Amino acid sequence: MALDSIIGQARVRASLQRALSSGRVAHAYLFHGPDGSGKAAAALAFARALQCMRPVNGDACGECMACQKTERGVHPDVHVLMPVTKDTDEEERGRRIQLLWEDPYQPADLQSLPSLDGKGAASNKQIIYSRENVVAWLQRPMSFHRVEGRYRVAILLRADKMREEAANAFLKLLEEPGSQSVFLLLTDRVDHLLPTILSRCQQIRFDPLAREEVELAMQQRGMAPAQAATLARMSGGSLRQAIALSEDADMLAIRDDVLQYLRKSYQGKGDAVVAQVDQMARPGREAVKFQLDVLLGILRDMLLLQQSGDRDLVVNIDQIVSLMKFTNKLPDARLDLMIQSVEKTTRLVERNVNVRLALTTLSRSLQMGMHGAPDAAMSTDLVAG
Ligand SMILES: [Zn+2]
Repeated sequence: MALDSIIGQARVRASLQRALSSGRVAHAYLFHGPDGSGKAAAALAFARALQCMRPVNGDACGECMACQKTERGVHPDVHVLMPVTKDTDEEERGRRIQLLWEDPYQPADLQSLPSLDGKGAASNKQIIYSRENVVAWLQRPMSFHRVEGRYRVAILLRADKMREEAANAFLKLLEEPGSQSVFLLLTDRVDHLLPTILSRCQQIRFDPLAREEVELAMQQRGMAPAQAATLARMSGGSLRQAIALSEDADMLAIRDDVLQYLRKSYQGKGDAVVAQVDQMARPGREAVKFQLDVLLGILRDMLLLQQSGDRDLVVNIDQIVSLMKFTNKLPDARLDLMIQSVEKTTRLVERNVNVRLALTTLSRSLQMGMHGAPDAAMSTDLVAG
């Protein structure tokens, strides 16, 4: 990937290209900013431009041998490191790093992608860089002669995951960088890094991506415009989050379920509500928590429409027509109290309450809320319990 194909981050691109074309490359950079803003993409593109044998205007040519090797993630002088758990094997680590080279915006590390086959749950084990990791993955490769590149480049994803001993071992490397060594540290938690490390890095700040940038990127990935717009609004400026949501094939189906639940709650027909609750409760507690989260998003959108009619901040923009209809039909709805009920239900579900019961009770509260039940009666029923 070329620096030019990084999404957004014009200021960052300009400053990296300036460093490259002037030849004034620092020994260490700290790329900091929110998750999914493109730090890894920028780091890989910068590494590639550093190694390119025929750079053009401060960017990689994309054609030389070095460019071909970095493109495939096999350049011997570019080392990508990610924190792992104690029992992550080398093969898995390699596959994850390869994923990143294929597409630096997709989830690849253990935190954003707990399992490679999409089945396993997140491990409770800590994801860290141990001192041994720093020594094995960095000390040797960054101290020996360059194999063939113009630079020795090390990219540390989530650099804040260094334990103290690891950070100290790393600091030694930073204090005596060999010539032509470049360290790229990436983090969204700059406050977790040692001041002694920070002071040795040139800091480059990444901003969250603009909604339009995420939207366009999702369209370029083949997503239909209406869905791309919705995911961009859900992503909070993180392309990684938008991709993760889009890969969750059930996301839109879950939202349909939640909208049905809301409609059936409004109609208040017992059997229909029971059937809908059964369907939603079947996948288990974690799924229900997610459904409640989606429901919360829908209610917040409705509150926004009810109060200001402002479409610009609506998250579920692809559902705007039905949300408007719903909101217009319910001028007296107490959306504020309905939101409180959902939040309350989420806490109950987290505390191991029977999820069917919780969803059934919530349905009744929502029904009252949508019909604009009198405050006093409702607030007890809606938020009590
Ligand atoms: Zn090249």
